[in-house]
Amino acid sequence: MNTAPFSQRIIDWYRQFGRTTLPWQQHKTPYKVWISEIMLQQTQVATVIPYFERFMARFESVTALANADIDEVLHHWTGLGYYARARNLHKAAVIIRDKYHGEFPTQFDEVVALPGIGRSTAGAILSLASGQHHAILDGNVKRVLARHHAVAGWPGLPKVEQQLWQLADNLSPAEHIDQYNQAMMDIGATLCTRSKPACERCPVAFDCQAQRQGRQKDFPEKKPKKTIPVKNGFLLVLRQQQHEQQQVLLQQRPPAGIWGGLWCFPEFSTEAELKAAAAKINAAASLHPLPAFRHTFSHFHFDIQPVLLNIAAADNAFSETMLMPQAGNAVMEAKATLWYNLTQPSRVGLAAATERIIASLQTASIKELE
Ligand code: SF4
Repeated sequence: MNTAPFSQRIIDWYRQFGRTTLPWQQHKTPYKVWISEIMLQQTQVATVIPYFERFMARFESVTALANADIDEVLHHWTGLGYYARARNLHKAAVIIRDKYHGEFPTQFDEVVALPGIGRSTAGAILSLASGQHHAILDGNVKRVLARHHAVAGWPGLPKVEQQLWQLADNLSPAEHIDQYNQAMMDIGATLCTRSKPACERCPVAFDCQAQRQGRQKDFPEKKPKKTIPVKNGFLLVLRQQQHEQQQVLLQQRPPAGIWGGLWCFPEFSTEAELKAAAAKINAAASLHPLPAFRHTFSHFHFDIQPVLLNIAAADNAFSETMLMPQAGNAVMEAKATLWYNLTQPSRVGLAAATERIIASLQTASIKELE
């Protein structure tokens, strides 16, 4: 039985089993750690790795990111979800370029003031990249601490969160904070997992209260359930085909609101509104419903019915103007439209629903949809 202090057992475990070969751990810089930390919020390591590598290949520095068009940043984020993360990265990069001459700030207060960076992420960047002494408390660390100390209550409640921060601060070692913080995140991600914790391999098992009581599933407490509303919407998939090339009409969403700044099919609240817009483009054309699906946001379910309208090239220019806001497309105050080529896709950020519909169009035979 290893009875060394908590932090020492964690560090010893890291030296033996910790992850040291991840791309953002090589030639560490605050910029790399920052990008990886943001990508890793809500997303698994294995998914993040290829995104991180493509992102770094295109935006090799904070200044390169700040100078890039937001559309290109969103394009590199397509598929990762939670696009506010990408928009905040870009905003923060602009601040770092303009206020800190492109050098990532080194003071905690400056880092935590950047868009999209909270206390835990700021602590992770400064401790992992520069060895500064800061505690962290991301979702994985919360789970380990809540179980080890049997902390009751949902961690989203300020009182419970405060208690967990207190623990995180008290347990942080004076030395090797980078290894300790990395290890806590790794243990949460690989051993102390949500549904099947591997307590038999955990370095802090012998005094873990949840493990002793066989109550691992009780900690951390789950968010109190509340039913979220369901919203319905119709997406008009306007498609034209010329010489084996298929193009679909997309509109850019306004910067605020769901899928802000991303490209999406024109959206209508009701089928009648969609039909009226389609009739203005081509009164004779028939509409084909595509498979309906649900997209769940944090605060509502969105039941989406995509409807395909194949149009001739002659309708093309007409369709763009008909779908601008003044033509009755009440839901979206789109600022731009784009004919998106399915065989040579444009480098823009796509909303999750757009991606899904485009993927289904790419796999379905054209005959099937005519
Ligand atoms: S002993 Fe089990 S429940 Fe406790 S911290 Fe380790 S993995 Fe988590």
